[in-house]
Amino acid sequence: MSYKITVEHSFEAAHRLPHLGGKCVSLHGHSWTTAVTVSAAQLSPEVTVVEFGALKARLRHWIDEHLDHGTMLGAQDQLVNPLTATGNKVFRFGLEEPGDTAEQFAHGLDWPTVEATAVLLTRVAQSALVDLPRADGARIDRVLVRETRLNTAVYEPATS
Ligand SMILES: [Zn+2]
Repeated sequence: MSYKITVEHSFEAAHRLPHLGGKCVSLHGHSWTTAVTVSAAQLSPEVTVVEFGALKARLRHWIDEHLDHGTMLGAQDQLVNPLTATGNKVFRFGLEEPGDTAEQFAHGLDWPTVEATAVLLTRVAQSALVDLPRADGARIDRVLVRETRLNTAVYEPATS
């Protein structure tokens, strides 16, 4: 038996996937949506898995600050420098030494695919969850990311 809660958010962002060829080589934007599900085998003394409002606020704040109205690029993408030099908000995936920055959550993910974005947001949600009052054993169960109405990726981290 397990209890599950889901919080959702949306953001507007551009990306491109030059390694794939075809139309994804061109810089283009999507209205992305994400749904983060947290599960726990038992409820906290407050009768919650985790408090919806607190988790949602943390997640929304991170997404709005780092992804919304920005461009998600691979760190080796040739567009990184021209876009940042002209004042565009850029979030780099797969930086070799991201240090203690927001981009650390995209470490090891070379390109901003829908799948990589689901892993990124899983890591962000995991780091938010550990700071919040929650049920014993509460964990990120699955993260869904949708780039279009028709394209969805789901990441389910292994139980540890
Ligand atoms: Zn796309």
